[in-house]
Amino acid sequence: MEKATRQFTKDHNRNLVLRTIFDNENISRAEIARVSRLTRTTVSDIVSDLIGEGLIMEIGLGVSSSGKNPIMLSLVEDSRWVIAVDLGQNQFRAAIVNLRGKIRDVVAIPINQRDGTEALKLTFQIIDLLLGRTNQKISGIGIGTPGLINSSEGIIVNAVNLNWINVPLAKIIKDRYNLPVQILNDCQAAAIGEKTYGNVSTTDENLVLIKLHNGIGAGIIIGGEVFQGDGGFAGEIGHNVAVREGGDFCRCGNRGCLETVASAQALVKLAKHSLNKYPNSVLSTHLPNFTIEHIEEAYRNHDFLAETLVNQSAQYIGIALSSLIGILNIQKIVLIGDMTLFGEPWLNKIREEMHQYSMDLPFNKTEIRIGQLGENATILGAAAVFVNNYSNLFRNK
Ligand SMILES: [Zn+2]
Repeated sequence: MEKATRQFTKDHNRNLVLRTIFDNENISRAEIARVSRLTRTTVSDIVSDLIGEGLIMEIGLGVSSSGKNPIMLSLVEDSRWVIAVDLGQNQFRAAIVNLRGKIRDVVAIPINQRDGTEALKLTFQIIDLLLGRTNQKISGIGIGTPGLINSSEGIIVNAVNLNWINVPLAKIIKDRYNLPVQILNDCQAAAIGEKTYGNVSTTDENLVLIKLHNGIGAGIIIGGEVFQGDGGFAGEIGHNVAVREGGDFCRCGNRGCLETVASAQALVKLAKHSLNKYPNSVLSTHLPNFTIEHIEEAYRNHDFLAETLVNQSAQYIGIALSSLIGILNIQKIVLIGDMTLFGEPWLNKIREEMHQYSMDLPFNKTEIRIGQLGENATILGAAAVFVNNYSNLFRNK
């Protein structure tokens, strides 16, 4: 028991020192001791271990106002590389990411309707591809995937688009590559990505990320941690009802979900169905295969149908977000996914709608903006989750 307690304290102190070094571009031992409130001797011992692990290095002398100039320490950002995978709805993307979230290599493979074991083979293929292109040892694999995920056990409970039900993906990947693996929902990963690398203030401990793509989902961070809910399925905002009467069928089995009126896929479908009523819309010239990009172009050129549908999507999203801030009072909301192509005018419509259905005080302090990481949010989040679990980084455990 005593031994276990000693090990716990040792790991805790080591993590504290490592966190302090991660949070600073460079820092002296004395400053680490001040910030972490550990003794200088403890810090020196831990720093020696971290240098031995190759995770940090001395980079020269800093400036001091009193006495001797201190030796500065810095993270060796390329000392560990992680493979991060985004099992997206149209394509799988995977990247090699370093300790500072810099992408060193990236590959993408279109899914082309593959699901079940074929989708699993594709997952292996994309990881194999990256591993084959580097000589550097990889520390582990982080995966963000749509669907209901049990992160603690590494199980995909239900990913409708991939037709995976109760797939123990973490174990399958770990057995194949003999590397530690972490899995989480793609929106939760994207939330961590934006919080860690998306220009979010380090003092912001709470954030909601909404992914508005072919599906709609949310990643919720409370007190710096992903909030997964009691069953691990928090954030399925896309399946909250938006149209109460006569809504379209949704892939979840219900009708009228937010996803059926405000996702990119829904918008394309709604536009196609509306063309007989709006034959003069420029969209009719792109038939039969127009895309969300065509709608964006039409919207920019004030096409009546495109404006009507995009504004309607913004209304539904605004109402959903007003409920969210009413319940959580989280002041930082980040939107990502194809729907953000519609930019500031669409965002302003969302704001207007949120304002109309929210109390003034919580609304006034809420900042809602488009994410900074583009299509890399999930990948960078999956990498960050892996790296932030520092025990994954040590060679001499
Ligand atoms: Zn649904």
